[in-house]
Amino acid sequence: EIVTIIGQTPLSSAEVCGLVVSDCSGPYDPTKFWKVTLPNTPKPPVTPPKPPKPGAPVSRVLFLSDVHVDLLYKPGANAYCGEYLCCRANSPAGSPKPAGKWGDYRYCDTPLWTMENLLQHLAEKQSEFDYAIWTGDIPPHNIWNQSRADQLNALNIVSDMILKYLNIPIYPSLGNHESAPVNSFPPPFITGKDSISWLYDALAETWTHWTPVSTKRNIEKGAFYSVLVRPGLRLISINTNYCYNLNWWLLLNTTDPAGQLQWLTQQLQQAEDKGEKVHIIGHIPPGIDCLSAWSWNYYRIIDRYESTVAAQFFGHTHRDHFELFYDMKNRTRPTNIAYIGPSVTTYKYMNPGYRVYEIDGNYPESSMQLVNQQTYIMNLTEANLTDKPTWKLEYDTKEAYNMSSMTPADWDKFVQRLEKDTELFKTFYR
Ligand SMILES: [Zn+2]
Ligand SMILES: [Zn+2]
Repeated sequence: EIVTIIGQTPLSSAEVCGLVVSDCSGPYDPTKFWKVTLPNTPKPPVTPPKPPKPGAPVSRVLFLSDVHVDLLYKPGANAYCGEYLCCRANSPAGSPKPAGKWGDYRYCDTPLWTMENLLQHLAEKQSEFDYAIWTGDIPPHNIWNQSRADQLNALNIVSDMILKYLNIPIYPSLGNHESAPVNSFPPPFITGKDSISWLYDALAETWTHWTPVSTKRNIEKGAFYSVLVRPGLRLISINTNYCYNLNWWLLLNTTDPAGQLQWLTQQLQQAEDKGEKVHIIGHIPPGIDCLSAWSWNYYRIIDRYESTVAAQFFGHTHRDHFELFYDMKNRTRPTNIAYIGPSVTTYKYMNPGYRVYEIDGNYPESSMQLVNQQTYIMNLTEANLTDKPTWKLEYDTKEAYNMSSMTPADWDKFVQRLEKDTELFKTFYR
């Protein structure tokens, strides 16, 4: 596949290098590439977001990401087998410490029964959640021998299990692992046997269990969609595989694949016109593993619609962190935040985790901003030792970081505090 693409790309070798790894010889300037057209409507004056009034209603949003369920997980198998994924029935033998029942910190993904245990736990408390966001990466990491049938099977098994246990609306987005081969997401102009429709048609079927039928056309075209969660709050799910620097199909034409960012701009303009706030969800956080021109355009869009985009949520890194956006003019005023949540998989050296985002609630004039978040984990060592997995609060962000609210300005202050406060830095970086 990669040989075909390299043979057909209109880009020079220096441009390919600059696109994929930004530290090629010579400065790489993303602005020289394509540019999304922003509407003529002038940007409304910015009122810096204020925290909601004390006692204002709060909505709770469940966040699940990177489940990477391994149907071939085998307790007792070799967990350090020299391959990219171990703990499987057919993993080469040799490790003195075999894979645990509920998972393993080493080169191993999530056993199906651990996923089910998590969903049973979530089912018991689902009345607390208004809805869930689920930001992709369903299949395991055996990326060297996956077929389209394997990937669709993983999508179906995990989606059915979620449907079985959770009766709340779920808003999914597409990970980079859902395709076969991994990271391979041909844009819509690729038709025939290489077309991605085998996956997007299946997603359109599965996702519309939770999203309105009106989202189907965009899912089939590009695996992105926009929904009104409730009056005043729109959720836009983007397909970040169109920015991913390991999606080699993009080398054929890097310009706004599937017209997604132009579509996003239109959606945000319509939301601004109607006075709606927007949450953007996706898999790969912009700026991380993303082609620079795409990230630069995305940043421009967020800058233009900073008062409409109330929050952004991503996964992919399997880490718990955030990205702070600053105004493009002076690069000093914090304008927006992308929250990046933990993974359900342990891959690698993590406890399985999920998160609850608390947002300004469902009432007129709600800012729809994030007001707090709680991260929950299963202590895997304990689970394997006692054979009783439990999901417990790891930390509450406001409490752990001693924050009174979570506006972009608060996170900017937090970053400044990190520079000076070693104890706080240690709490954050662990
Ligand atoms: Zn992942
Ligand atoms: Zn990923």
